[in-house]
Amino acid sequence: MLALQYDRFGGPIEVRELPAPDVPAGAVRLKVTASGLCRSDWHAWAGHDTDVTLPHVPGHEFSGVVDAVGSGVERWRTGRRVTAPFVQGCGRCRWCLTGQAQVCPDQTQAGFTHAGSHAEYVIVHAADANLVAVGDDISDQVAASLGCRFATAFRALHGPGRVRAGEWVVVVGAGGVGLSAVMIAAAMGARPIAVDRSPAALAMAAAVGAEAVVTAGDRAAEEIAELTGGGAQVSVDAVGHPSTAELAIGVLRRQGRHVQIGLFDPASLPVLDWGRVIGWELQVNGSHGMSAADYPQLLDLISNGRLCPQELITRTVGLSEAASLLPRTDIAPPTGVTLIDPTRA
Ligand SMILES: [Zn+2]
Ligand SMILES: [Zn+2]
Repeated sequence: MLALQYDRFGGPIEVRELPAPDVPAGAVRLKVTASGLCRSDWHAWAGHDTDVTLPHVPGHEFSGVVDAVGSGVERWRTGRRVTAPFVQGCGRCRWCLTGQAQVCPDQTQAGFTHAGSHAEYVIVHAADANLVAVGDDISDQVAASLGCRFATAFRALHGPGRVRAGEWVVVVGAGGVGLSAVMIAAAMGARPIAVDRSPAALAMAAAVGAEAVVTAGDRAAEEIAELTGGGAQVSVDAVGHPSTAELAIGVLRRQGRHVQIGLFDPASLPVLDWGRVIGWELQVNGSHGMSAADYPQLLDLISNGRLCPQELITRTVGLSEAASLLPRTDIAPPTGVTLIDPTRA
């Protein structure tokens, strides 16, 4: 199979011909139909994720067709169109059994704990617990765009963010996950404000539902305070940099709720104003993807047209172009969602 692979962190990423993976018990092998390029791929490549072993095939948001079924798998057969959350739970522990596989202690993650989906084939472990059927009304491209960013944003706002209609929701970072959060917040009847340094990203945020856009910089916090009349009820940091997290938490009003979804470089963590967290009763939450159990609610909103993730997809590239884009997703994050067609070198 064709695949992207690298031998060292921060080193060259190459298009290689590799053997297709064998199918372990409980797993399925998917023929990948689309794979999303994501900043988390950059974190893994940069060496921020201790789960990654070398050489490594990246890619963790994908759609595919079941190509081979391992022993013990009961719910799936070849030919089914599917996707999966980027956190794949074990399917057996107390968290998995209560629909909270996103915090499973025995989780696997294609593209981190084993070879990922920037390849013609990918393995999904504990398939009965983790695969999500994709209906005919949802394209491969849309299904691939859900696995990480859209699902992550959906759960951040519906879960820990507990967003209600009419509330101000500040979204810092208008890349794939941030734009998803803006679109979902608008669909929930909330009032999203997008913050980014890129005019193109802000224009896209406005197009998918941001009520206001603010250019990142020294005056951002002041502008948001004016727009919201003293601060937002909810903030989301979709970037994961000390400055973006500090801005997002700093623009909350009293009893505001922050949701952190952008991943940090472990060597560069934000400093929280704990005095304000306590005195203003701020809630600082993490949100880590979304379990397969929560997908039906999201898929229904897409099927009935309430959410349109396809509006976020800006282009599809082959593997070679993806290899050159991946190392730059940190300094030059793509506007919207870039998908990879793994059959194209
Ligand atoms: Zn991702
Ligand atoms: Zn589990």
